[in-house]
Amino acid sequence: MGTIREGAGAGIGAGVWRAPGRVNLIGEHTDYNDGLVLPIALPHAARATVRARQDGVLRLYSEQSQGPAVELDVRALTPGGVDGWVRYPAAVVWTLREAGYPVGGADVRIDSDVPTGAGLSSSAAIECAVAAAFNDLHGLGLDSPEMARLAQHAENTFVGVPCGIMDQMASLCAQPGAALFLDTRDLSIRHVPFDIESAGLRLLVIDTRVKHNLADGEYARLRAACQHACAVLGLETLRDVNPQDLLGVLARLPRALVPMVRHVVSENVRVEQAVALLEGGDLRGLGPVLTAGHVSLRDDYDVSCAETDLAVNAAVEAGALGARMTGGGFGGSVIALVDSNIALTVAGTVKKAFHQARRRTPRIFAAVASAGARRIS
Ligand code: ADP
Ligand code: MG
Repeated sequence: MGTIREGAGAGIGAGVWRAPGRVNLIGEHTDYNDGLVLPIALPHAARATVRARQDGVLRLYSEQSQGPAVELDVRALTPGGVDGWVRYPAAVVWTLREAGYPVGGADVRIDSDVPTGAGLSSSAAIECAVAAAFNDLHGLGLDSPEMARLAQHAENTFVGVPCGIMDQMASLCAQPGAALFLDTRDLSIRHVPFDIESAGLRLLVIDTRVKHNLADGEYARLRAACQHACAVLGLETLRDVNPQDLLGVLARLPRALVPMVRHVVSENVRVEQAVALLEGGDLRGLGPVLTAGHVSLRDDYDVSCAETDLAVNAAVEAGALGARMTGGGFGGSVIALVDSNIALTVAGTVKKAFHQARRRTPRIFAAVASAGARRIS
């Protein structure tokens, strides 16, 4: 570790790292089933200004959290022992230490413009910015997938959220102008061209500003149900279901598990369809795949809600090529693929539909596929 001198700026032992939020194009509730996902990194990101300390104190401050800085002793970090937003950066430091990496204290200042709790992975953005910072500051030599695994472990174990690995992989590995085709079974990735602006299209992200309380409990229930289906089928994971055998496989399941398995298996197929379309330059063709994904999440996986359905329906009725809820469900965000010349009209129509339904006005922005985590100073 380098010597830290006051006033040294982002010199040895200090710097600024930036890690983006993400939005998933297609492949929902597949990442904890060893399946396929296709996220893009957002232009929105968490910036972590990090300066190593020699005294074992982890001092955490966020421009967005309103509260004062929190000081923790890195040696005393334990899962369940920390509350509030500081769990996310503390989780990464704890995980690195648990894995045997010689990391100590630091001053960490977070400044993020990723909307929080909107299904756009503001939490992974913080984790990945902090992981990248500690990796560089301590010369750990971790590659991006290794950092993603550690950050996911941090969120699962220390924060207590049983998320899959998509968010961290997207934040760490994405490239500008490309979607990240990730096979969560072996973490193999392929960068798939997704230059929507050149194609005359826009990807609208519609944050419904709704998060229904059942989200966390339901997520755990859905994961358990997928494991139950695997146990009934004698399979390690639902990825082992060959889509061509789907009907026969469904016939062997208790009725309650049929729609869920149908979603997971058909969703992997939709990801492959989407990749083929994008690699063939047919970005417009993605629209119907998105809408089919929404129908499956709504009717089979049963994770949509009135607000996400409202946004999808309003966008499609206003001329979107396709739309779907994105993220875990029960609120959060919707994406809509639209011709650029009607993007404003579609956004206006969606807002009007929310107004008429007496819901909060959604936040809508156009996203482009952006860069993954990196050091910026
Ligand atoms: P998502 O990751 O979809 O935004 P989560 O519930 O997983 O939703 O993570 C949101 C949480 O992450 C917030 O409640 C907060 O604890 C933390 N968080 C995100 N961004 C910030 C920030 N800029 N400052 C402090 N905490 C943040
Ligand atoms: Mg999150």
